[in-house]
Amino acid sequence: MPLIPDGRVLYAQAFREHFAAPAFNVCNLEMAQGAVEAAEAEQAPIILQTYPGDLAHGGAPLAALLRTLAEGSSAPVALHLDHGEGLQMIAGRLRDGYSSVMFDGSHLDPDENIRQTRQLAEVAHAFSASLEAEIGLFGGDHGSVVFTDPEEAERFVSESGADTLAVSVGSEHRQESRLDLERLEDISGRTGHPMVLHGGSGIHPDDVEAAVGMGVVKINIGHAISVAMTEGAKEALNSGLDHYAMLKVMRGKVRDKAVEKIRLMGATDAAGPVPA
Ligand SMILES: [Zn+2]
Repeated sequence: MPLIPDGRVLYAQAFREHFAAPAFNVCNLEMAQGAVEAAEAEQAPIILQTYPGDLAHGGAPLAALLRTLAEGSSAPVALHLDHGEGLQMIAGRLRDGYSSVMFDGSHLDPDENIRQTRQLAEVAHAFSASLEAEIGLFGGDHGSVVFTDPEEAERFVSESGADTLAVSVGSEHRQESRLDLERLEDISGRTGHPMVLHGGSGIHPDDVEAAVGMGVVKINIGHAISVAMTEGAKEALNSGLDHYAMLKVMRGKVRDKAVEKIRLMGATDAAGPVPA
């Protein structure tokens, strides 16, 4: 099954079928292979996503690598730009064949965030791709937390043209968290729109399941698979393994963690029957 060309198709399916697609932040071959192997084993659609820091690390070769892996996968794989910073970065990834991009205007005042999001949504749609926007702040290594205001979310969805909305309801980048499920339900009820959670690695499993039932279609997983990969490297080094064996252990640790997250989000078998 090839690369998912348009993220909107995946998000519509997830919204309809009540699962969330895990979006794994990957910056090298082993992380990406581990995530794709997990998707194939679970017959689940997944997203490989790159944060600007990942792209600073891997550049154009990383984007090309992810596209090649997605195109060769037996499970559906979308490519997504995480925390995109403006037109140049977003248009660059759309030209690389990404299915979905995020514009992070969360630091702007609401009117300016809506104005820029609307422009960039048009750009994404011209490439037949999906645009994710953010209101509220997720904190962790990105500064302080600001919860998403449900009324503001309602206005944002009606005026911005964003396909999915990242909402801050308790999860934090790199932190353990419990969600404010009442707030999430309020946002869901007012907007009726597919939502995204960041800081997904540390969200309590019960809250992940509840959130998926409320219209969350994408949950970002970065920290958990980074930790899995580095644990694999440490184990391999302590065991005196050679470099090929070490990379294999790293990939396997990422795969196991990715399988766990796919199952938690209800995405197993959402890819449909395995093609003959
Ligand atoms: Zn984030």
